[in-house]
Amino acid sequence: MKRLIVDMDDVLADATGQFINYYEKEFGVRIERSVLNNKNEGEGFPDNHSTLREFPYRKNFFRDMEPNPGSQEVMEKLNRKYEVFIVSAAMEFPQSLPEKLEWLGQYFPFLNWKQFVFCGSKAVVYGDYMIDDLPHNLERFNGEKYIFTAPHNMHINHFKRFQDWRDIESQLL
Ligand SMILES: [Mg+2]
Repeated sequence: MKRLIVDMDDVLADATGQFINYYEKEFGVRIERSVLNNKNEGEGFPDNHSTLREFPYRKNFFRDMEPNPGSQEVMEKLNRKYEVFIVSAAMEFPQSLPEKLEWLGQYFPFLNWKQFVFCGSKAVVYGDYMIDDLPHNLERFNGEKYIFTAPHNMHINHFKRFQDWRDIESQLL
């Protein structure tokens, strides 16, 4: 079985949507997703960047994220064909660990906890395929690297790309 490494934030989970929701709750302005295109993570928001950096430390920021469309159904199929590991560089936000574990249990109940890897750096993982939204996670990976489309990576051109979960379904299944 080929080993498939899958990221959480902005791959399984709609982290960008959560930032937009928190920003709206805090400042009363709903930012269009397209405004964030081609800008580094966080930089697409018009201002209040220091508050933006605090959002991930707030209770339930990670617990209340929505799964990205199609991720549950496609992951269930991938899990039968590949040796799947969910790898999240979560140590920057230690309080996110129980939230992420609960979240995976709720939305991906067909996965076993032994498939979850919460780490500091993804440089330690190896496998055949990695799906991630952040170039620095992909760069040090030994296998085939796929960037998962998010507003902050649309200008990155040196990785193979999955536009969404339907795209993963048609290319990996
Ligand atoms: Mg991510």
